[in-house]
Amino acid sequence: MAVDESYDAIIIGAGHNGLVAGAYLARAGLRTVILERRDVVGGALATDELAPGARVPALAHTAGRLRRSVMVDLCLDEHGLDLIEPDVRVTAPQPGRPPLTLWKSTNRTVAELESLSAKDASAYGRFDQQVRSLAPFLAKLHTLTPPDINHPSLKDGLTGAKLARAYRGLDKRDARTLLRVMPMAVADFVSDFFESDGLRGLLATRGVQYAALGPWSAGTTGVLLGDSAGNDGGAAGQTTFVRGGPAVLAEALASAARSLGAEIRTGAEVAAVTTDGARATGVALSSGEELVADAIVSGADPKHVLTDLLDPVVLGPSLAWRAGNIRTPGVVGKVNLLLSGVPRFDSVDDESRLHGRIVIAPSIDYVERAFDATKYGRISEAPYLEATIPSLADPSLVSDSRHVMSVNVQYAPYRLRDASWATERDGLGDLAVKTLEEYAPGFADLIEERVVITPADLENDYGLTEGHPLHGEPGLDQFFAWRPLLGHARYRLGIDGLYLCGSGAHPGGGVTGAPGANAAREIAIDARARARAAR
Ligand SMILES: Cc1cc2nc3c(=O)[nH]c(=O)nc-3n(C[C@H](O)[C@H](O)[C@H](O)COP(=O)(O)OP(=O)(O)OC[C@H]3O[C@@H](n4cnc5c(N)ncnc54)[C@H](O)[C@@H]3O)c2cc1C
Repeated sequence: MAVDESYDAIIIGAGHNGLVAGAYLARAGLRTVILERRDVVGGALATDELAPGARVPALAHTAGRLRRSVMVDLCLDEHGLDLIEPDVRVTAPQPGRPPLTLWKSTNRTVAELESLSAKDASAYGRFDQQVRSLAPFLAKLHTLTPPDINHPSLKDGLTGAKLARAYRGLDKRDARTLLRVMPMAVADFVSDFFESDGLRGLLATRGVQYAALGPWSAGTTGVLLGDSAGNDGGAAGQTTFVRGGPAVLAEALASAARSLGAEIRTGAEVAAVTTDGARATGVALSSGEELVADAIVSGADPKHVLTDLLDPVVLGPSLAWRAGNIRTPGVVGKVNLLLSGVPRFDSVDDESRLHGRIVIAPSIDYVERAFDATKYGRISEAPYLEATIPSLADPSLVSDSRHVMSVNVQYAPYRLRDASWATERDGLGDLAVKTLEEYAPGFADLIEERVVITPADLENDYGLTEGHPLHGEPGLDQFFAWRPLLGHARYRLGIDGLYLCGSGAHPGGGVTGAPGANAAREIAIDARARARAAR
């Protein structure tokens, strides 16, 4: 094999986790290259130009879960990151009723809920407190490397001790509650507190977002709590925008990584992970170039790496079979719009209510029915939507009085039973518009440009297997020591020398940088051990 270049670490994919891992590895003194198949860095953190002077988040629109230590360690503010946190977290228009708005201020939310239901208003503070008191345990869990279940070491014992300490840090009641609610359906969890359909539906969406799960699916409360871990989300969930669009965060990470010594190459698709028959030794690019390194680190999803990039003979039949069964059923599409003005939602008296997320999920039944369709390979007739109009909070996205709108449409299954995404693209766009029109009459007339991104596009254009936004389902079977597979959850994947640093690794997807940072820690430990052994 003619080797073109050799490194300490090669990272496949410059999604934000690949960039985070690359930056930390470079900081640890490893000669690191990050290879990205697209022409830009960032993966799902992308900004698209809808028309000259109008930029919209292509996929992810909020970034409030980004781990604080990543921002601080990598000095992201010095690399151009500026976050915007509106006072409003989310507004949920309701059919024939005033909208629900959850504010950053719990007191303000409670005061507004009084007019809806005195019971729900008084329960909201307790619910918020409950989420905030349980989330720190999960935040701690998110920082840990899952234990080696097969061959536990002293270090795994230490991990257990850290977890036990975090668990003991909960008060007695919370400790019991945590064990009870984690596997619970989020529909039950929110119904324990609230009576109004609208509030139940809105809060329950936090347990199913980006997942092939409905509010009655087991484990969705765990997803909701995980969404609040390590951030100020509380009951309402976070809403934070990157000024200038999500790509600014990707650029800030890339700039930080470069300043620490990492090399980044775009338009560099990895076609195969090369091995010596047992250990990962390098990568072969589609261009024919071959690079070698001690650590091959995937920021791309684990199913892609294990089933597309690695020789199945090296992987072995058992692991190849298990890798093929990593659950990645994408159910989210995206519709991005340029609007001539701000939509007028029924009974939304004040534009500031639209500065956060706008969620269409008027009841648990509505969301569950939307989910039902996906079980049978169909697109929801009445989908759950999460939209933002980021140009309201960040006017720099547009050069005139128009606005951009970013709409996640769920559920739109990657695998359609009686149709194909080649013909359903416009239908998905029409569905999103029709749904919004029901809550904001005249909405369709505001649309000047429309871009629809289907689950098939997420796979083809963004490299997400089956269009899964999180690189794998977030359910309990793919959580912590089971993410992505039992025995491979410690960022070491499949064979020696191969690692996982993307959302398919613990603690999972979303714009957090957490798997990237955790993985870098483990890779650096192995690199130091190799260096010691070589002395
Ligand atoms: C429509 C949508 C909306 C979302 N909205 C939000 C949101 O508002 N807030 C939030 O927190 N999260 C959101 N998410 C989830 C979040 O964006 C992702 O979970 C997260 O950004 C994934 O980051 P990553 O770095 O792990 O992987 P990715 O961003 O997927 O990066 C992986 C990279 O690897 C590259 N790659 C793949 N294969 C190869 C190869 N063979 N060779 C070289 N490069 C390769 C890809 O091109 C990609 O750049 C959303 C996701 C989607 C799809």
